[in-house]
Amino acid sequence: MYSNRLKGMSVSSIDDLSKLPFTTRWDLLSAYPYGALAVSLSDVCLMLSSSGTTGSPILTFYTEADYKLWMERLVRNLKLVGIGKGDVFTNTSNQGMFTGRGYSEAASLAGAASIPVGPASPEKHLKLMVELGVTSFHAIPSFALKMANVARDSGLADKLRLRKAVIGAETWSESTRRRIEESLNVDAYDNYGVAELGGPGIAIECSEKEGMHVWADHYLIEVVDPETGERVSEGEEGELVVTTLTREAMPLIRYRTGDIVKLLPSDCSCGLETPKISRVKGRIDEMVKVRGISLYPKIIEEVASSMPELTGEFQIVLSGIDDITVKVEVKKWVKDVDRVVSELKRRIKELTLLSVAVEPVEEGGIVHQGKAKRVVDLRQL
Ligand code: ZN
Repeated sequence: MYSNRLKGMSVSSIDDLSKLPFTTRWDLLSAYPYGALAVSLSDVCLMLSSSGTTGSPILTFYTEADYKLWMERLVRNLKLVGIGKGDVFTNTSNQGMFTGRGYSEAASLAGAASIPVGPASPEKHLKLMVELGVTSFHAIPSFALKMANVARDSGLADKLRLRKAVIGAETWSESTRRRIEESLNVDAYDNYGVAELGGPGIAIECSEKEGMHVWADHYLIEVVDPETGERVSEGEEGELVVTTLTREAMPLIRYRTGDIVKLLPSDCSCGLETPKISRVKGRIDEMVKVRGISLYPKIIEEVASSMPELTGEFQIVLSGIDDITVKVEVKKWVKDVDRVVSELKRRIKELTLLSVAVEPVEEGGIVHQGKAKRVVDLRQL
């Protein structure tokens, strides 16, 4: 993939990095299946894929050395948030080609008793957690939220012995975090990964929960203006661009992740000195422009999960020329749905300046395949 593109270019210092072209998702899609593989296929020990929230999957390859370093980074993640010996850990992630599976083995390596449960209903996961005395888990936020709602409504919360959770692979707001933490009585940490770049194990929050530490011995990060590609200053929003430093099977140079973050000051009260990034605000391809206003789904999530009458699950449907409908799940016990709907409209208007239609659906009525699809665009443009 790179041999032609980088022909004649030379790099002699880290400052020269900006002379090199970006790598995009499109490059990887066109390189399918093996164009982005930088070693012989016989040196590959594992192939996984991006969970494909949009369109075709992108493969990600590991040599034995890549796999070993991946596990090392995930063990670091777990230890940083305090998961290790003495813990009973469940991985609620799909154990197929989704890179979230890495946490199952990493938890064993970190000293925990690991249970790779994989996909099951929130009820089944919670039952197992109670029966087996589970203390920690890994999940995507939309699933953790489902478990939180079930635990609260079924009274199971008091029987759980959870302490820590590692959550990631989708954008999630602080109000979703509060709901997960309060309902499951757990300390929940955000972590960042991208399948194409090797999966989770790029960055994670420490106990301060003020941004994520980047494992800079494996990943070099830049934050750029998505329009111009120029680097933005610390504290300014931009697109996260990542260069892998240690991957053998699939090294990527200046990969445009599509995720909007800020570069934060690297000094942290936890004592770790690594580059830090903010939690992800949203994906560039998820941002919708409605009546001239830029809207990230996260802001709707923030509102939806701050209201106890709603499950926090939602979907934004765009239709007509510029009509926006927010679908939300209303909890079973709610009687005055109309009041909840007008309150939600009011809060959305206050935060986004947009008047939206709200369509209440029953609990469990919004279903996603794998990762949550937050925006459905049916507009005739
Ligand atoms: Zn820290």
